[in-house]
Amino acid sequence: MLCSSCYSETKEHFCRKCRIKLFDGAKVSSILRFKAPKEDNFETYQQHTKRLSISGVQLKYSLRLETNNLVLSQKNGQYILKPIPPARQIQAIDDAPENEHLTMQIAEQIFKIRTAPNALLYFEDGQPAYITRRFDLKTNETKYLQEDFAQLLSRSSDSHGQNYKYDGTYEAIGTLIKKYVAAAPPALEELFKQITFNYIISNGDAHLKNFSLMLLETGEYCLTPAYDLMCTKLHTPYESDTALELFEDCMNSDFYSIYGYHGRSDFMAFAKKLQLVEKRATDMLKKFMASENQIISMVEKSALSDSSKNLYLKNLRDQIFRMGY
Ligand SMILES: [Zn+2]
Repeated sequence: MLCSSCYSETKEHFCRKCRIKLFDGAKVSSILRFKAPKEDNFETYQQHTKRLSISGVQLKYSLRLETNNLVLSQKNGQYILKPIPPARQIQAIDDAPENEHLTMQIAEQIFKIRTAPNALLYFEDGQPAYITRRFDLKTNETKYLQEDFAQLLSRSSDSHGQNYKYDGTYEAIGTLIKKYVAAAPPALEELFKQITFNYIISNGDAHLKNFSLMLLETGEYCLTPAYDLMCTKLHTPYESDTALELFEDCMNSDFYSIYGYHGRSDFMAFAKKLQLVEKRATDMLKKFMASENQIISMVEKSALSDSSKNLYLKNLRDQIFRMGY
């Protein structure tokens, strides 16, 4: 069978490497011992879990590892569990958990983007759920101070209205990284890689709250691992290509004015604004352009439905074409 996290061949639900990364080596089943949240057990869920947040329609639950079992927990959650979102009007919604798991694995394995450990699990009744290990916990279970870029840019629904998460540019995130992060150049490269990845993979919802800084014990800030990555076009096909503009006025670039979408030259202009070494940015873009076959083989191994696999790859080919000139 395939590992429920990294898709490698293994005899158990998780390969050894992923068992260590996700569960500190504990032998955990990828099948949970409880059912998915539904109307008839919703109350029980609410009693036993702290509902972490509702971002859009997504409900998140908190889990703990007790001996070899993952259990719903109210306090000291170590994992975040995301079942199929309850919104039926969104396309291919049953594929949402695997979409996120697959996209996070592509980011990590193919593009070496730092990500939170994650996997695809199943409830007792067969419904899939995405799980991710919290990266903000210290070994003594206290938390690292973490702030997302909506907070860092002082954007809230009170100050900037309902769409506050979309009120900013990726360049503005870069400017704050230069201000706060001691090792800024690698963090800026990481940001560039994540933004380019989101474009190639059709993640149109990478808003200000999907990037964060974390305060380390050394007193330095660093960019957190990537989270909430998915091909959003699978579920909301008409949304814009990027959640934020790359930089102020980027839609007035020569390329965008002609084609109506971003291409390589816009990303190179973005890299310049982040003050990346040009060759490093060129090499990163080349890597994205050359990785189609690796992505295809991972999509094939995934648990997406056949129609979602086709759409995932169609979007990928469209985006690679756009970046190709
Ligand atoms: Zn694995």
